Amino acid sequence: MKAEKELIKFTKRGIYCPQGKFYLDPWYPVEYAIISHGHADHARWGMKRYLCQDDSKAILQHRIGADIKIDSLPYNKSKTINGVKVSFHPAGHVIGSAQIRLEYKGYIVVFTGDYKTQPDFISQPFESVKCHTFITESTFGLPIYNWKTEKELQEELQNWVKTNQANNRTSVFLGYSLGKAQRLMSLLDGCDDIYVHRAIHNLNNAISNSGIKLPKTTLLTADFDKKELQNKIVIMPPGLLGSRLLKRVPNAATAICSGWMQIRGNRRWQSVDAGFAVSDHADWNGLISAVRASEAEQVYVTHGSQAVFSKYLNEIGIKADELITEYGDDKMIEAENESENLETS
Ligand SMILES: [Zn+2]
Ligand SMILES: [Zn+2]
Repeated sequence: MKAEKELIKFTKRGIYCPQGKFYLDPWYPVEYAIISHGHADHARWGMKRYLCQDDSKAILQHRIGADIKIDSLPYNKSKTINGVKVSFHPAGHVIGSAQIRLEYKGYIVVFTGDYKTQPDFISQPFESVKCHTFITESTFGLPIYNWKTEKELQEELQNWVKTNQANNRTSVFLGYSLGKAQRLMSLLDGCDDIYVHRAIHNLNNAISNSGIKLPKTTLLTADFDKKELQNKIVIMPPGLLGSRLLKRVPNAATAICSGWMQIRGNRRWQSVDAGFAVSDHADWNGLISAVRASEAEQVYVTHGSQAVFSKYLNEIGIKADELITEYGDDKMIEAENESENLETS
């Protein structure tokens, strides 16, 4: 079927829908951008108009600007834009993350943005959507990636905290302010008091103010009381590894939480005490099950292991092509974290 060529075009600015006259997560400023979720490589500055899922609205306003022109829709409700039916469906990646479904003259395209098929305690669980063309991410598109269940992770993280407490150590988790931080809060809820860095605290406030309930946390002020913090839990962005703030934490045991931790000896993170494979993305089996459930006749594989994953899909009889995009791995999110001037806040 040629129709999909007419419904989406891969351009220099991003994935474009000519009929609808809008882009999906464009990487350069455009008139009208439909956004899958609030991470910096997907929700960028400078669009004349934004459309996102309801729970992402406050996140985008917080990160891009309170004065942006932005509309939102709940999950599974559609809006027709220039004859194209547009709807958002849970992607299970971070709060507010959505797959974007487009329908035009009976032809359906689904753009996943980032997604995770395994349910967690905080984001709306992934729902598969049938379509003709499925555009999937592939961040962890290698067979070595295979996540634990949320229950298993919870036990692992809480046990680590308990061991630290027995040794009179304060548990410090390093995780990005959008996604990983709220996930860690939900995994550690009830274990002990959780202190969060100001970047996380401010984002949490924006999320809570939009009506989403988050686990209870306390702001880690710059002049925190060392005695009060002793043996507690702290969550801060990874950009603060090696910072003065972290050095002041009494007897800190540090942990990095990332899907990359599944591979041992990740050299970058040798200075931390522990690594936990907590990922916001689908693992190998999750990606395959999502592709199969879409029943798509054409799959495009974007950021991550697109060469390996698209080759594998073709081998199992699913027509797939690589699609080069400018969605980042974690690099852009890190750059953003650094630019937030974390030390002074
Ligand atoms: Zn993301
Ligand atoms: Zn992404």
